[in-house]
Amino acid sequence: MTTIKATCPMCGDVDLTPAQVRLTVAQAAGWATYTFTCGTCHDLIEKAADDEVVALLSSAGVCVDLVPGEVLETHRGAPITYDDVLDLALWLETHDVIVPHLVAP
Ligand SMILES: [Zn+2]
Repeated sequence: MTTIKATCPMCGDVDLTPAQVRLTVAQAAGWATYTFTCGTCHDLIEKAADDEVVALLSSAGVCVDLVPGEVLETHRGAPITYDDVLDLALWLETHDVIVPHLVAP
């Protein structure tokens, strides 16, 4: 079994399995982090991961969470509500072609 060596800021070096590490990669934003829970102090540790660390953790079998670029987009206006979704569903029942009704941002 693969052993991953990481460092807890409080406890020092810790040995982890790939299942104990979470790798998050946001390629569109150019950053990546890995997290693990220290087995001694039980703190959740998060550290930046450069390309080399991402490659090593991936090859060791750590699951990679990819952050979609849409998450990092700037949004304007109020969040969509359930009423907005219901209004759209009702509107779609009476409209077969929606393209003419689309408004560019
Ligand atoms: Zn610790």
